[in-house]
Amino acid sequence: MADARIQPRWRPPPLIRASVVLHLAAAGATLTRPRLWPWALAAVVADHLLLTAAGLWPRSRLLGPNWTRLPPTGRAHTTRAVAITIDDGPDPQVTPQVLALLETHSARATFFCIGERVAAHPGLAREIVQRGHAIENHSQRHLHRFSLLGPNALEREIRAAQDSIAAATGEVARFFRAPAGLRNPFLEPVLVRTNLSLVSWTRRGFDTVNRSPARVLGKLTHRLANGDILLLHDGHAARTAAGGAVILEVLPALLAAIAAAGLTPVTLRDAAERARSWADVD
Ligand SMILES: [Zn+2]
Repeated sequence: MADARIQPRWRPPPLIRASVVLHLAAAGATLTRPRLWPWALAAVVADHLLLTAAGLWPRSRLLGPNWTRLPPTGRAHTTRAVAITIDDGPDPQVTPQVLALLETHSARATFFCIGERVAAHPGLAREIVQRGHAIENHSQRHLHRFSLLGPNALEREIRAAQDSIAAATGEVARFFRAPAGLRNPFLEPVLVRTNLSLVSWTRRGFDTVNRSPARVLGKLTHRLANGDILLLHDGHAARTAAGGAVILEVLPALLAAIAAAGLTPVTLRDAAERARSWADVD
């Protein structure tokens, strides 16, 4: 097993390596055969469109590693697990009710928190951790233009959220989810430097815009299976016709469906530990 204290190095994925080669070839062609410049330019533009599309596709692995499911744990683990991930909090109105619902069902969840909100509600962030859940990094400000930031600005956003989470809870976040799942090729080297793993999801309920708990539940439980990562929101939550946050109506039914399918909700950290112990034994 790799020693966690050794700073891992970023290894460019094939798409990035191919892009670098293409840029060099385009520059070489333009210098040696100037008449080819329109073709060289077209190739570079097409490459940038492809890189942008990969960043706008939250579940893509073209820009680097990305958890869209829990890692395999082998047959030794009889527990079949899913991860409930809850984004954009902590929210002083919604999060305490979410914690109470999870407690009723003895369920563990992963909260991808916004650093500024953690700093504004440190007691609530501590409570999340004290109740056995995990807080992970969802950037400091949740900027809509996050995927347009350069490497330095991305690193500032991510390190600021790490600091906010550590100051409030004493915990170091291990996972990162990009705002709205949107990113660019500069993100992965920053995540390697900050020791964070990128996580997207298997399925999401679109519960920031969909006001129908039944429809959100239907999207999350459609083909529910071992290893799924499910996405809900305690912050920026859509409201039902009755005025409550959608997650509060969805969670009890979702937890019942998970139990009925013989699955156990675990945190991403637990899933990583289980996968690691299986890999060590193997
Ligand atoms: Zn978010």
